[in-house]
Amino acid sequence: MLKQVLGIIGGGQLGMMLTEAARKMPEHISDVIVLDPNPNCSASQAGAKQIVGDFKDRNAILELASKVDILTYEIESGDSAVLKIAESKTTVTPSPETLRIIQDKFLQKSFLNDNGIPVTDFVEIASIGDLRKKITGFGYPALLKARRDAYDGRGNFKIKSENELVSALNYFSGKPLMLEKFVDFKMEVSVIAARNTKGQIATYPLVENIHENNILKMTIAPARVTKQVALEAEKIAKETMQVLHGAGVFGIEMFVTKQDKILINEIAPRVHNSGHHTLQSSKTTQFEQHLRAIIGLELGDTALIHPTIMYNILGPDGFQGKYKMPDIKMDNFYLKMYGKEESKPQRKLGHFNLVDADDTLGISGLLESVSTIKDKVVPSST
Ligand code: AMP
Repeated sequence: MLKQVLGIIGGGQLGMMLTEAARKMPEHISDVIVLDPNPNCSASQAGAKQIVGDFKDRNAILELASKVDILTYEIESGDSAVLKIAESKTTVTPSPETLRIIQDKFLQKSFLNDNGIPVTDFVEIASIGDLRKKITGFGYPALLKARRDAYDGRGNFKIKSENELVSALNYFSGKPLMLEKFVDFKMEVSVIAARNTKGQIATYPLVENIHENNILKMTIAPARVTKQVALEAEKIAKETMQVLHGAGVFGIEMFVTKQDKILINEIAPRVHNSGHHTLQSSKTTQFEQHLRAIIGLELGDTALIHPTIMYNILGPDGFQGKYKMPDIKMDNFYLKMYGKEESKPQRKLGHFNLVDADDTLGISGLLESVSTIKDKVVPSST
């Protein structure tokens, strides 16, 4: 097989770890070029060439497309219409049509629902009258969501009573909206799934995700659920991969309800924060898996070798600017920083993985260790 030049829209931490994986496959990928607005972005620090430009900049996307054999993305906010045009110059994967559907939460849920995949109850909302009428079918609380360009929960408003209807609508100042029934879930979980260009599908074992302020804080691999729940979630993830077009790794976020039912919350058409544990816990990292999928190699082994907890290092509240990190060395502890120059409150600066390498700690032992380590791994002002 000829060596390929890989293009990535976005050069943040996901682009960085994709670049690192690509550099371990020199027989297949000769070069990586990323498009990112921040000069010296994380991916360029890992050896990618960079076009400095916005993710939605038509000329920059087309310039990137003309330089690469295969184009993928690490963010879902790229311009899918421009990516469709870019398909005349290069292979874009996952397909821009899949990206277009996923970018709009209402289209995404409609697509899944139409394909018989379980999702939370949802409806489109056009006006205050519409909201008043439709919310009675769901009851309070219910979640009003921006259909597009919302991540880390910033596009959601939890409506607790009729008194909040107007302020909820005003919060979104005219953006297209949808309403979801509130799920009183037992646990948030996800499956990292892959499909290669030949249609082969593989899923990693189900993991458990703990969020704080709507941002992922910690991933526990494997999820603390029954075998039956884990198998059901992995089955739903496989069915989802069968209906989505294009090759690559997808992060499929789900709820486990109090009745142990699985509902998909949302899909990311890219490598995912809840898959970072695979850097140490699995034979094939999610980053290598994505590359294997898009260049048409056999998918790698997804078995979880050791239980692992991934903990996100977020910029602390209260300061912004250059920061330093304590130097911590410990058995089975793997710190990964993303090379970001400045800390901002809640910014993802890095993560660590703690691995139960001897299979002696169990998840409860890992959790205990994480709770002592996390207070030592705190970025501070220089
Ligand atoms: P989202 O950005 O839509 O994925 O939502 C961010 C977070 O809001 C999720 O991780 C959940 O914790 C919560 N959430 C989203 N949708 C629902 C729902 N229908 N019911 C309950 N919680 C939800």
